[in-house]
Amino acid sequence: MAPTGTPGPARPRDAADTPEAPTAVVVGGGLAGITAAIRLAEAGVGVTLLEGRPRLGGLAFSFRRGDLTVDNGQHVYLRCCTAYRWFLDRVDGARLAPLQDRLDVPVLDVAHPRGPRLGRIRRDPLPVPFHLARSLATYPHLSLAERASVGRAALALKKLDPADPALDGIDFATWLGRHGQSPRAIEALWDLVGIPTLNAPAPDASMGLAAMVFKTGLLTDPGAADIGWAHVPLGHLHDTLAGKTLDGLGVRTLLRTKAERISRTDDGRWTVEVPGETLGADAVVLAVPQTETHGLLPEGALDDVDRLLDIGTAPILDLHVVYDRKVLKRPFFTALGSPVQWVFDRTGSSGLTGPGQYLAVSQSAAQDEIDTPVSVLRERYLPELERLLPAARGAGVRDFFVTRERTATFAPTPGVGRLRPAARTRAPGLYLAGAWTATGWPATMEGAVRSGFSAAGAALSAFGRRHDHPLQEAA
Ligand SMILES: Cc1cc2nc3c(=O)[nH]c(=O)nc-3n(C[C@H](O)[C@H](O)[C@H](O)COP(=O)(O)OP(=O)(O)OC[C@H]3O[C@@H](n4cnc5c(N)ncnc54)[C@H](O)[C@@H]3O)c2cc1C
Repeated sequence: MAPTGTPGPARPRDAADTPEAPTAVVVGGGLAGITAAIRLAEAGVGVTLLEGRPRLGGLAFSFRRGDLTVDNGQHVYLRCCTAYRWFLDRVDGARLAPLQDRLDVPVLDVAHPRGPRLGRIRRDPLPVPFHLARSLATYPHLSLAERASVGRAALALKKLDPADPALDGIDFATWLGRHGQSPRAIEALWDLVGIPTLNAPAPDASMGLAAMVFKTGLLTDPGAADIGWAHVPLGHLHDTLAGKTLDGLGVRTLLRTKAERISRTDDGRWTVEVPGETLGADAVVLAVPQTETHGLLPEGALDDVDRLLDIGTAPILDLHVVYDRKVLKRPFFTALGSPVQWVFDRTGSSGLTGPGQYLAVSQSAAQDEIDTPVSVLRERYLPELERLLPAARGAGVRDFFVTRERTATFAPTPGVGRLRPAARTRAPGLYLAGAWTATGWPATMEGAVRSGFSAAGAALSAFGRRHDHPLQEAA
């Protein structure tokens, strides 16, 4: 069931109607806003959620193309993404986006002089760091000396505190260079993981964010990096099921409703202007991207509000190819020696019928190709896929199209940490959320959900409402 979207009668549930229940307007129906709305409503706050688009889910959504249901971009999460996993549970979607039993990433090198070579990044059921020791020791894409130096760098990385501001000031490549990592080790291991998780290659990535990803994912809990992904369209999880959950909690969800202005009233409450209506509330959670936040924040809400505009963005490009036959046996793989980054089989989730196969090629940090015409991308990538997948040679291509997300993530550049604001603003009752806020995580679904927890938690504390943090670790 999709959430209902037509603006309803003039006033939302309001503190004036039910004296004990405070009210909140959440602006933005991405994962951050949905999470904040759920948490507030669970604590008895009367919530109105505004989303400018006709659907919930923000940057992680699906659309129809003929008979196919297409995700705007392949999304994966890791077992260590405890907040996103909470979200999946909360919307009753966890079984639809399962995790691998055990980390296993096929890495195909097509540039090897003796022909294509398949390696694996796998874990064993052993404690950290032994869980990856065998995989590293046998990883065929690095020399023995490189494998040993990766092991030493990993141990050095384990000692870092990702929240150390000094780390945010340097780039990941510099740190890797200082720790003896060769260009090949960076390409075949660190960037292989870093580019899709940070959305930047090592020279463009903050060491603080890189440390966060590698330490949390690979060097804490043995199962932390097991990969999960939706086996249904993202829209089913983030729009349909999330909408149902919000409806069940009594949240008033207004789609196609853009907040135009947010103001504090003389009595310390808030108004949010949307076309044709002014909504009143005791608190507002602003869960929109940084530029929109800058445009909507009332004066004085943040010190140096213009710093939000210094947070850059980075693109992700997805190439979608529908073959007339099965060309890939695995659910996904990643490539070396090719412009192709990660390839996922999306056949099952897309509703494709018949004997064909639908692959999504996910290209992170795609600054160089984000504006390249489809015809050029087709000419470039179809032969590459044939190089990687022998079964694609001679297969018919039933469809080829691209999705371009120019502002897919905030740019994780060195120094970005000091630009990211916390949930609390200087204006009492006004809170910020979004993957780009100060979560300590790169721009991920995990960061978005965490930011929703923080904003809702801050609002509930100010309301004097009892609430536990949903994640045990922070309880
Ligand atoms: C192609 C792609 C691939 C990705 N891959 C991954 C991945 O593999 N793993 C992962 O963890 N993350 C991935 N991400 C990142 C992840 O999708 C985002 O970090 C996360 O979804 C951001 O959620 P959010 O709620 O912070 O922001 P958004 O999703 O941007 O939500 C903000 C919402 O606010 C709405 N809005 C804006 N202005 C207004 C207004 N004035 N009034 C009302 N509503 C407004 C917008 O329409 C939007 O719905 C990917 C992103 C993209 C684009």
